[in-house]
Amino acid sequence: MIFALVGNQNSGKTTLFNQLTGSNQHVGNFPGVTVESKSGFIRGYKDVEVVDLPGIYSIRAYSTEETVTRDFILNEKPDGIINIVDATNIERNLYLTLQLIELRIPMVLALNMMDEVRSNGGTIDIEMMSERLGIPVVPISAAKNEGIDELVRVAYETASKRELPKIYDFCSPGPIHRCIHAICHVIEDHAQCADIPLRFAASKLIEGDDTDIISRLDLDKNELDLIGHSIVEMEKEHGLDRNAALADMRYSFIESVCFGTVVKARESKEHLRSAKIDLVLTNKYAAIPIFFGVMLLIFYLTFNVIGKFLQDLLQSGIDALSAVTDTALTSFGTNEIAKSLVIDGLFAGVGSVLSFLPIIVVLFFFLSVLEDTGYMARIAFVMDKALRKIGLSGRSIVPMLIGFGCTVPAVMATRTLSSERDRKMTILLTPFMSCSAKIPIYAVFSAALFPDYAALVMIGLYVFGILVGVLIALLMNHSMYRGNPVPFVMELPNYRFPSPKTVAMLLWDKAKDFITKAFTIIFFATLVIWFLSTFDIRMNPVESQSSSILASVGAFIAPIFTPLGFGDWRISTSLITGFIAKESVISTLGILTSESGGVADAISQLFTARSGLSFLVFTLLYTPCVAAVSAICRELHSKFKGIGVAVFQCVTAWIFAFIVYQIAGLFMV
Ligand code: GDP
Ligand code: MG
Repeated sequence: MIFALVGNQNSGKTTLFNQLTGSNQHVGNFPGVTVESKSGFIRGYKDVEVVDLPGIYSIRAYSTEETVTRDFILNEKPDGIINIVDATNIERNLYLTLQLIELRIPMVLALNMMDEVRSNGGTIDIEMMSERLGIPVVPISAAKNEGIDELVRVAYETASKRELPKIYDFCSPGPIHRCIHAICHVIEDHAQCADIPLRFAASKLIEGDDTDIISRLDLDKNELDLIGHSIVEMEKEHGLDRNAALADMRYSFIESVCFGTVVKARESKEHLRSAKIDLVLTNKYAAIPIFFGVMLLIFYLTFNVIGKFLQDLLQSGIDALSAVTDTALTSFGTNEIAKSLVIDGLFAGVGSVLSFLPIIVVLFFFLSVLEDTGYMARIAFVMDKALRKIGLSGRSIVPMLIGFGCTVPAVMATRTLSSERDRKMTILLTPFMSCSAKIPIYAVFSAALFPDYAALVMIGLYVFGILVGVLIALLMNHSMYRGNPVPFVMELPNYRFPSPKTVAMLLWDKAKDFITKAFTIIFFATLVIWFLSTFDIRMNPVESQSSSILASVGAFIAPIFTPLGFGDWRISTSLITGFIAKESVISTLGILTSESGGVADAISQLFTARSGLSFLVFTLLYTPCVAAVSAICRELHSKFKGIGVAVFQCVTAWIFAFIVYQIAGLFMV
């Protein structure tokens, strides 16, 4: 048995999904967090599956989220729908409910956030509402785990008895009523053949913009004319255009459902408080400086205070372990090569990356607090105007902010954008937002080369990435992607105290990802690099790495980087491994320089401040890692374009690194 979880954005679908299945999907106080559908089994019901679908306001086909949800319901034919409704905003949420009812699938309404309604003195007459809507209604609070068992029981019962919604006619007698019935009459056979619910098909015909459904109905010219005629007739009689007439019909019905059943809560404490906070945080003048201040504070705390402290602690632990192992292996008389694999390979490689775990966890802690409190949504709102100037809308800020964590989910998050133009532009820009895997590179380099200005260099790199992104956006806006971004409408969620559980879960996820990556991809890359740098082509262990297999390969491409100031084969090799995972740049340098004692020492020998700067700019801008490139290919639906993006970035990186190297030459040696 399969249930589809459908509702507006930010109505608590994922929270409910997690409660139902016991899984840890990402919940965010932000519209558009879930872009892919996720499925899981309901606890205690082994054969009942629920699917968490992206949030939508209406069953249309404008954005990818809407298409995903619509197609799932129409094509997969779930056994039941759990429609989750935000009870604090019931009228608007019911708009979707009415459209779902037209689909003729057993359905239960889960009235979520009842805790908030109750605590502000609101009430809802559940029984009366259920009677008027013709479907079971269950009050719940997903966050507080109230009413969930009852919901599952009712949903299971409704679906196994295949109880369809009792009401499906929402219109009172009048022009729109006649129009719908006329259309139903014409298309009845077609809808049955195409296996599309009749009422739903009729609504789609009146709306007229879902070409996919309309073509599936396979109507002939006569029938289309007939339908067109009844719609024109209806518009004339009604005085409203087709879409407005339909919306008007739905809202009148919703009004009649809510009349007498819903006692509005007084303006909620949460909302009042949010409005007060917003006076400051989204203030016309203060908003952007505050945003930058917040970001600076976060970076400062992450890189200079908390994260740094923890990292140093972990690093000394790893160093001590490495030293102990070294002594033990030596005294045991272990073969030199085997010892080199452990010490120069694994400890120097995986160890150097692993020590960044605390920094990454701390950064994500702050980002998830920003998101869960609801501040992130404000940032999108505040930045909208600025982004519009470069041809993007406020919505694009979400993928970009996610891009500071990892480009893969960021590129996927562009699905929330409703126009293809905005989506493509945003996909091209997200890789310029420096991802967290590059942190080890920045941190090691700035500590080695600019010890007094480490934080400044770090922040400078982030800002530089953003500036280059802006520049590219401007260029695109005046060339390939001419046009205007779609208007940005987003509801601002109330500020909430971040849920410790959500934050903890997110951190655990991140830490797990990072550790897994360190012990799989990076571990593997480390082994390969160690092998290639320890043996020559005849498989003899080399005296010095410069005669190894790797050196000959690295030396081959090194000339490309000579104009940028770093033509050493070890550096070019590290950049290649960086394509597998960015952290590998450091682990590779760690292995390749283990002869000269420590990455930091080696870096100060290999680089000058000037070439170090140009290297940092290059790593900031060059191709995202292979996982991100394949995500881009998927989202652009073309391997060719995806690889094009990667090449484009390498070229951009080269050009900017060159410019930086030349300019830096004026000030440094
Ligand atoms: P989705 O976008 O529909 O998947 O919504 P989420 O599950 O991500 O939740 C959106 C926000 O609503 C989060 O901040 C949740 O903590 C919050 N939330 C979810 N359910 C409840 C509830 O029952 N009561 C309250 N007060 N907040 C809730
Ligand atoms: Mg969600």
